[in-house]
Amino acid sequence: MSTVPFNVTTFAGEASDAVVKVLDSGWVTTGPQTAGFEQDFADHLGAAHVVAVASCTTALELCLRALDLPPGSPVLTPSLTFCGAINAILHAGHRPVLVDIDEDTLVPGPETVAAAAARVRPAAMVVQNQGGYPVDVPALAAAAGLDRTRVVEDAAHGPGAGRDGRHVGADSFAACFSFYATKNMPIGEGGAVATSDQDFADRIRAMRLHGMSKDSWRRYLPGGSWRYDVRTVGLKANMTDIQAAIGRAQLTVLPEWQRRRGELAARYDALLAGLPGLVLPQRGLDGVQHAWHLYQVRVPDRDAIIAELDAAGVSTSVHFIPANQMTAYREILGAEECGSVPVTDRVGEELLSLPLYPALSEDAQERVAAALAAALRARG
Ligand SMILES: *Cc1c(COP(=O)(O)O)cnc(C)c1O
Repeated sequence: MSTVPFNVTTFAGEASDAVVKVLDSGWVTTGPQTAGFEQDFADHLGAAHVVAVASCTTALELCLRALDLPPGSPVLTPSLTFCGAINAILHAGHRPVLVDIDEDTLVPGPETVAAAAARVRPAAMVVQNQGGYPVDVPALAAAAGLDRTRVVEDAAHGPGAGRDGRHVGADSFAACFSFYATKNMPIGEGGAVATSDQDFADRIRAMRLHGMSKDSWRRYLPGGSWRYDVRTVGLKANMTDIQAAIGRAQLTVLPEWQRRRGELAARYDALLAGLPGLVLPQRGLDGVQHAWHLYQVRVPDRDAIIAELDAAGVSTSVHFIPANQMTAYREILGAEECGSVPVTDRVGEELLSLPLYPALSEDAQERVAAALAAALRARG
């Protein structure tokens, strides 16, 4: 019996030719393809500026560093998030302050953000579009008492998501995207910062390459100068032209993939409706365009159900094991901070992500649904 993988990464047909062209060109690191990808992705989002970087994790760290907060500043973050987003706050020299979730949306809502901000006055906040649900950034900024220029968006799940007809990142001060292999816009590895602010874009652009005032592509262009300055201490976090060429090919197919994700999510809704103990993703929110990066359900007895699905040839995943349950953060943040997110702890035990990707066949999807139905009916 073949198994249904949790994820299959698809590449546009043109991606391999595009890579060969870059290799043949003799210029493989950050250069003309990266500049072209930045323009293409900015056009796709409707954003003023995009800076391509090595990953979403480095994008988050670069943005947090570029805010120039005092060392050790409190930064609000969901605890139900990927560890890389917590690490970025710590590597930037700040203190993660954990925020609990609203159990319907699986992200912090205005109430939980306001409660955390009352506990510790935050200097900045990281928000996350869990599974492809676009958070209401102005509402969360207001709840935290923060200006929009102090909100960094973890938009790793953001491609394809929007609110009121505007794409996630279109109006952001700092939105960080991921092009990791399993994400909606896969390159393999890569990330980007979208910003409405020219100065912020310029700072990120310098900081992604050591803080140098000019990147090497421009220095080696005819008439380019060998001279550069280092005005700020940056990271080595640039994107290569090989990645960018793949990204440009992928962007042409992304709208079709998003349409397919939406169709498959609606099919899951229908296939799984009414099963005992199952909570399906929230639907029908006004003005919300969900990206369906993940199809996350909630089930009782989650760990045993994962094992049963696995035995039936269905691979699943969990997004996420809450940060407050991880050893390193418990040591750094302490038991009191890590005990401050009860909804995250309760709901975190029930979360289950089902296979969802453009290459998922309807037969395979029906096998997933049948296996989950069998596991739930045996209990309910
Ligand atoms: C994948 C992911 C990241 C990290 O993305 P990379 O590009 O692999 O660094 C950050 N945040 C969330 C929510 C993610 O799912």
